[in-house]
Amino acid sequence: MKIAIVGGGIGGLTTALALKQNGQDVTIYESASEIKPVGAGILLAINAMQVYKNLGIHKKIEKAGAIVSNIQTTDAQLNTISETKLSHFENKYGVCSVAIHRADLHTILADEIGWENIKLSKRLINIEEGNEFKLHFEDGSSINCDVLIGADGIKSVVRKQLFNEGTFRDTKQRCWRGVCEFDSTAKYNQIAIESWGKGKRFGFVEIGKNKVYWYAVIKDTMMKENYDLSDLFNEFHPEIVKIINETPKDNIIFSDIKDLQPINQWQKGKVCLVGDAAHATTPNMGQGACQAIEDAYVIGKLFGQEKSVEAVFTQYEKLRLEKAHYIINTSWTIGKVAHYENSIAIWVRNFLVKNTPINIVEKQLNKVFSIEYNIV
Ligand SMILES: Cc1cc2nc3c(=O)[nH]c(=O)nc-3n(C[C@H](O)[C@H](O)[C@H](O)COP(=O)(O)OP(=O)(O)OC[C@H]3O[C@@H](n4cnc5c(N)ncnc54)[C@H](O)[C@@H]3O)c2cc1C
Repeated sequence: MKIAIVGGGIGGLTTALALKQNGQDVTIYESASEIKPVGAGILLAINAMQVYKNLGIHKKIEKAGAIVSNIQTTDAQLNTISETKLSHFENKYGVCSVAIHRADLHTILADEIGWENIKLSKRLINIEEGNEFKLHFEDGSSINCDVLIGADGIKSVVRKQLFNEGTFRDTKQRCWRGVCEFDSTAKYNQIAIESWGKGKRFGFVEIGKNKVYWYAVIKDTMMKENYDLSDLFNEFHPEIVKIINETPKDNIIFSDIKDLQPINQWQKGKVCLVGDAAHATTPNMGQGACQAIEDAYVIGKLFGQEKSVEAVFTQYEKLRLEKAHYIINTSWTIGKVAHYENSIAIWVRNFLVKNTPINIVEKQLNKVFSIEYNIV
């Protein structure tokens, strides 16, 4: 049985690895000419790291990145509003959260899968459906496969052609991301910080020795023509402004923040969608890729059983849909709350965040970190 995965992002690569470890014949078709991910760094939360432990690569990922054991929300001057220590979850699940450069994660995954199983410069443009699938690529080539997995991101061609396009929602927030050299080791060791200003926020985390990944988000109404990013954030703590200024401008990535309104169909017959193609979310919970990684875990486990492909995909959708939709909806709300501009609303929000009982925070995090699926 030939399985084709379209898209070599974190979702496609992790799904390929999970399937390959089950002895499946799987090939990835990626439109880019090299595995060079956009997006600087990424935080892999405890749910994702449990999957990578299961796949036997969590130690490699920890080594290439940096452990995160503490998550803080602060005001723009880095005064703590709330702090969540993750040790309880680290003990419970036996893994730590890790922040890592995306390129390092992709290299680890591609090495494990085998580069020969990843076909580059293969942009899917058309799919013919019959007893099998015939995939046509932009370079004029085509291949046949028995099973098709669409891991081709939020603008998925597989979704558009075989399901429906879905509805994109623009948050009207704009985002910059970067990586810079920064001596963060003493003060910010193992801490992921998100600072909330008026209609703006800035997050940063260490991803290796003296290397920091950061993101900056503002409402589009606050954008200025010919802006200078550090000016846009000049009311933030001087260390935040310094991080922006220390980053080579050419390495800063700009993007709009969008998601895909939850869709209820991810599979039919021998085709399914994974990752952002199925459930693209806003990045406010740092869970988009983690959810793609959970998709891979469930599909891998189900393929390990004596089931038909159709049964695997039906069960995968049934097991994963609710959590993915919970993440999309919660993340959307957090994005709104984090960008309040009104001083009273900000005060009330900060008060509530500060005073949320620890057992409620733990309950919510447990829902996100648990990967207990009833796979039978
Ligand atoms: C600002 C920001 C910060 C984020 N931070 C985090 C975080 O800290 N933690 C986290 O878990 N998530 C985070 N995310 C979300 C995360 O980046 C995505 O959810 C994740 O990358 C989705 O992976 P994917 O493989 O499904 O899709 P993608 O990463 O979009 O990969 C899709 C792949 O398919 C390829 N492709 C597309 N079309 C075709 C085609 N027609 N033919 C062949 N190939 C094609 C693309 O080139 C790409 O390689 C963040 C997102 C943003 C915007």
